[in-house]
Amino acid sequence: MANTITRSDAEADQEIRCSNGLFSVVISVLALSGSRIARTSDEKDFIIWLAEHDQSVLGSGTCGFTISEMPWSRDRMQLEKSFLDTTIEGAIRCLGWGMLDYTPNVTMLEPALNQFRTLVNELQETEIDFAVGQLWREEQEAERTLPGEYPVCSQHHVLLCWHGCVVCHENAGILPADSDSNGR
Ligand SMILES: [Zn+2]
Repeated sequence: MANTITRSDAEADQEIRCSNGLFSVVISVLALSGSRIARTSDEKDFIIWLAEHDQSVLGSGTCGFTISEMPWSRDRMQLEKSFLDTTIEGAIRCLGWGMLDYTPNVTMLEPALNQFRTLVNELQETEIDFAVGQLWREEQEAERTLPGEYPVCSQHHVLLCWHGCVVCHENAGILPADSDSNGR
């Protein structure tokens, strides 16, 4: 099984196919990096959105996503793309990796992160359904049950989403097994 990250429905041929294990590593290193860089609520929302794609909660091979469905804002899209670019750069530079109980397989991880970076940077405004992101933000507001504003995991300094800390889950070994190579 695998998780596919696509740029948009309009560019369905542009995709990254990740084994279950590699996908979990991608999400974890992005969450570690972005949680350390994010300053604004917009930026924190992007990391929480990514962290929600937690296979230990949602199930193996079910967490692929389309970049155009992230919570983009029409008037701040360039800032948001820039933040994601910085987050990916941080992940490539191993920001926060000391929080992981394992060492990611850079040979597999870095190409996936670079592909993700390319898809993010090439995303066009016309490919985005801004209503989808807006709906997600409204649901976040309405269903916010976590205490305080944007709490982070006390152990990993990762922004918490409704099902907790993605790095806690991964370090606990709640990681789907793969028959193929898995990035760790
Ligand atoms: Zn944690």
